[in-house]
Amino acid sequence: MKVAIAIGAHPDDIEFGMAGTLLMLRRVGWEIHYLNVANGSCGSRQHRAAKLVAMRRQEARAAARVLGAHWHPSLVTDLEILYELKTLRRLAAILREVKPIIVLTQSPEDYMEDHTNTCRLVVTAAFSLGMANFRTVPARPAIDAEVTLYHALPHGLRDGLRRRIVPGAFVNTTPVHATKLAALAEHKSQQDWLDASQGMNSYLQTMDEMSRAVGRLSRRFTHAEGWRRHSHLGFSVNEADPLAVALGKEYRVNRHYEAALGRCL
Ligand SMILES: [Zn+2]
Repeated sequence: MKVAIAIGAHPDDIEFGMAGTLLMLRRVGWEIHYLNVANGSCGSRQHRAAKLVAMRRQEARAAARVLGAHWHPSLVTDLEILYELKTLRRLAAILREVKPIIVLTQSPEDYMEDHTNTCRLVVTAAFSLGMANFRTVPARPAIDAEVTLYHALPHGLRDGLRRRIVPGAFVNTTPVHATKLAALAEHKSQQDWLDASQGMNSYLQTMDEMSRAVGRLSRRFTHAEGWRRHSHLGFSVNEADPLAVALGKEYRVNRHYEAALGRCL
């Protein structure tokens, strides 16, 4: 079976910008996986860390169930997603076990470092899939696999310096939007926190507005998720766009983005 994994920084990041694409892949027969690198330990003013981590673990598991995704436990606590060897070895072991064809992860530019560090860790973990001399924890043999990475849009659709990030491609998430909302709604502990810390009236409404905004950018879909595809160099022999192959008409390449990349040598 073809396998895709979404790797987000915190519980609910996948539901905000990647879950629709996971669901669309599941509709066409893919096996989907779900991993939050951090456990959400800092996302509350009310609850002590230990209690909050337990709550958010349950919420994330429930969300993964709604998505029909295989759930993987988090690796570190919030603000401790660092580009360092211990987490890299554990992440690489998970990828060697899951053997994904598609890896969905955070944007290389984003509003906070847990997100950008998640991106860097995932890129290197995927890069090491076939490297027999890179030791993973637990030890897993290197695999002969081709993988394609896609980066989600940053929070607020802008980088940390407020610049708009333009998607290179769009996935129509309209057919699965209700399920995506239901998965996000499982993160009940986040309503008050996001309200207080980021002025979100309702995190469900915010996701809805974000996916409509990306849908408008696509000029085709009502709800959409946007992606930027990583260079294939070091990840697959030839350039590939497996989301395009899997999703057909439900996927739209942004021709302006492609043109702006410049011509291939
Ligand atoms: Zn986050």
